[in-house]
Amino acid sequence: MLAKSSPQAPFAQSVLQWYDKLGRKHLPWQQNKTLYKVWLSEVMLQQTQVATVIPYFERFVETFPNLTALANASQDEVLHLWTGLGYYARARNLHKAAQKIRDEFNGDFPTDFEQVWALPGVGRSTAGAILSSVLNQPYPILDGNVKRVLSRYFSVEGWPGEKKVENRLWHLTEEVTPVEQVADFNQGMMDIGAMICTRSKPKCEFCPLMKDCLAYKNDSWAQFPGKKTKKPLPEKETYFLILSKNGKVWLEQRENTGLWGGLFCFPQFESKEALLAYLANEDISHYQAWPSFRHTFSHFHLDIYPIYAELENDRGERENRDWRKVMEKPKEYKPSLSSAVKYWYDPQNSEQIGLAQPVKNLLTQFARNYYGENSVL
Ligand code: SF4
Repeated sequence: MLAKSSPQAPFAQSVLQWYDKLGRKHLPWQQNKTLYKVWLSEVMLQQTQVATVIPYFERFVETFPNLTALANASQDEVLHLWTGLGYYARARNLHKAAQKIRDEFNGDFPTDFEQVWALPGVGRSTAGAILSSVLNQPYPILDGNVKRVLSRYFSVEGWPGEKKVENRLWHLTEEVTPVEQVADFNQGMMDIGAMICTRSKPKCEFCPLMKDCLAYKNDSWAQFPGKKTKKPLPEKETYFLILSKNGKVWLEQRENTGLWGGLFCFPQFESKEALLAYLANEDISHYQAWPSFRHTFSHFHLDIYPIYAELENDRGERENRDWRKVMEKPKEYKPSLSSAVKYWYDPQNSEQIGLAQPVKNLLTQFARNYYGENSVL
């Protein structure tokens, strides 16, 4: 669980000396470090690269300068600032954790490892990263970068997602992490992983660990970390209804759990027939099929078919455009719109809500079509 090495041990010393000269020390969350800011950055950095995270981090800290401000915000405000960063469960957990700290710890970020680890969205590595980075507590970390460096250095066979392999890597990170200067060591390991021991074409000649690295010695870096045996991702499809009325668009908030939880989306249908049946039932007589596109999640591909319709032909342009007729009203029809929160979204005067990226892109396209090229969301 705890670090076991000494800063003078060869592995730790190599990393610390390299970090001292070449490691990253100017990232926004490294300035005037606080547990709040480092926690925020660590959660944002899960599955996301530093360059992508920086502008999101800066906007977050500007809007929510402290933990209480984040805890007191609405979930919509939090998701709004997260829009585009993906993996939205992270944002919902961040918000829940802030509320837990406000309610159970008087607003002071906990400094006990078990308490940090118990926060929503905080795993063992993130808890270690926060406490080692800010307080130099001797906890090792094992994020994706560290897994890659250690797998190669020690030639650890197998996919790190497998429990047995992960346990072996945890054991190794405990063995090499020093009990002092932990903040610099952990940051050094992350930097080596991100800057030198990269996924493809690692720059071994610049690596402080080259001398004893087994993957370098055997020219076998490409085999580590081991890959998961890949099954092709399943394919699903969905039909988005982009329903407009006087330049506004109908959006619904999704349930808090599951895909795009808590975000605002267009009404979704499982089939084109179901969507057209809905339009017929609402006495909407024409629609346009917009080009379909694919959005890929970690566990499946989603083919999205956007269908555009206007509640009122308020601009009288229908005749000249590619409109199709909605089919006759079906005899039996059950509406499939069930969201509790729905409203007319005004792209010219947009609210602080979270939007899934494909929804944001389609709203931008709508705003351009409706209001002209220069309109922005
Ligand atoms: S020597 Fe090469 S493979 Fe080994 S840890 Fe360094 S960069 Fe990675």
